Amino acid sequence: MKEIKSFSASDLARKRVLKLKPYQSARDEFSDTTSAMTFMDANENPLGDPDLYRYPDPHLTTLREKLSEVKNVDPSHILLGNGSDELFDLIFRVFCEPEKDDVIITPPTYGMYEVLATINAVSVRAIVMDDDFQPKVEEILQQQSKTTKLLFLCSPNNPTGTIISQENMVRLLNGFSGIVVLDEAYIDFSTTESWIHQLHEFPNLIVTQTFSKAWGLAGIRLGVCYASTEIISLLHKIKPPYNVNSLTQQKALAALTNKNRVEGYKASIIKEREELLKQLLQLKYVEKIVPSEANFLLVKVDDAKKRYSQLIDNGIVVRYRGNQPLCENGLRITVGTSEENKKLIETLQKLDR
Ligand SMILES: *Cc1c(COP(=O)(O)O)cnc(C)c1O
Repeated sequence: MKEIKSFSASDLARKRVLKLKPYQSARDEFSDTTSAMTFMDANENPLGDPDLYRYPDPHLTTLREKLSEVKNVDPSHILLGNGSDELFDLIFRVFCEPEKDDVIITPPTYGMYEVLATINAVSVRAIVMDDDFQPKVEEILQQQSKTTKLLFLCSPNNPTGTIISQENMVRLLNGFSGIVVLDEAYIDFSTTESWIHQLHEFPNLIVTQTFSKAWGLAGIRLGVCYASTEIISLLHKIKPPYNVNSLTQQKALAALTNKNRVEGYKASIIKEREELLKQLLQLKYVEKIVPSEANFLLVKVDDAKKRYSQLIDNGIVVRYRGNQPLCENGLRITVGTSEENKKLIETLQKLDR
């Protein structure tokens, strides 16, 4: 049997968090409000909307059980948040001592890691990826120090759509002494396996996913965190009790009950992505398109600022990414409906003179 690396998340956590006695909400003590008890414990107003006058379940038991069924991960390894962004913030606040600890990010990548680090007074070491958009493993492992608590990785990565190789993931998980936070917001569009089934092998791994992308529910704000039970308990300690509201829980449950629909979304978006790629490559001023396993393409053009404004003038908004390392003259274009993609291509063809 393979040896599992000895690791204690509590050793990395902030002392104040370890000592914290969490707030006990009324719904913590008695959460099953469908039982025969009379609930006069939470100052709720019984004259309100029958579906909504109760506080939501702070443990999100029903939703976590449903997710557990769909994803085949035990509910004790799952924590839900108000979008992935809240989960990243909780991770910072459990593990990083303000003005003291630091984290590593690998640009070009999602901007929220650095923003949240700054808000939490945590410094950032940025180690730019190599030309194939792989993390520089040796450099990351050399640069980590005792105060480096987190390594943020994103796969498929935003804004490139690229996957971190299995080999690099394993080397980082084995060699990094803090927590590896793997953001899998776009994993459902990818043919690569998720890492959520590797939690037992890698006790320092946190994987996050979201309902905002493949599930088509960005408006409900629901993020999912998968990790060891030790990490989940630490995060749960500091999570606001009612961070996921009842309407969100209802919508998410409905989506999970109908998961064939997501499979359909995924197939259509991938088909549209490949068609869009083909069309874009025909344009003279398109220089390179990064192979993507997500629902967007990073497209390198002759002059990204100019093309960006021309698209705006034609009523189409894409994302300028030319200011990120390795993304010179890059535009990030989200795969839309076939009509939207057609409109984009027709507009770009008009410009192609
Ligand atoms: C869109 C996106 C998310 C999703 O964040 P939510 O707060 O769950 O909507 C997370 N990570 C990356 C890299 C993203 O692009």
